[in-house]
Amino acid sequence: MDYKEITLPANKSIALVAHDNKKPDIVKWCREHKAVLASHTLYATGTTGSVISEATGLTIERLISGPLGGDQQVGSLITEGKVDFLIFFWDPFEPMPHDPDVKALLRIAAVWNIPVACNIISADFMVSSPLFSTEFNRSVPDYESYIKNRTQ
Ligand code: PGA
Repeated sequence: MDYKEITLPANKSIALVAHDNKKPDIVKWCREHKAVLASHTLYATGTTGSVISEATGLTIERLISGPLGGDQQVGSLITEGKVDFLIFFWDPFEPMPHDPDVKALLRIAAVWNIPVACNIISADFMVSSPLFSTEFNRSVPDYESYIKNRTQ
């Protein structure tokens, strides 16, 4: 796979997803970092988005609920280059009916070289990076070269 560099703007698009037992954690984290989060574009799966906006007043673009396809919507936004960071507090103790979607989302985040935080501590490291709110370059798969190689 060939890669190319793209420049991310200071204002990022961040997707927020939390399984039910982890919703208190994501609400706590969003409350704590409300000021910095408010300067970015936020997406969330349905229920996660509801609980966060109710608790914090943050403006969030709400997708469909995870088990109904919301994780796949987030994956699609990543693929389209519309999500730059993924905060995904998944539950290591509960099997989910949409486990294949969870796995697919984590895979697509890895494919597109998206920073992923799976718990409060990794999200704290992410948000405290100077790169969180400044421009920076990220390598992404070079789709034109990929297609060219596949069709030669
Ligand atoms: P939810 O979905 O925000 O609608 O609860 C999250 C998930 O389970 O993937």
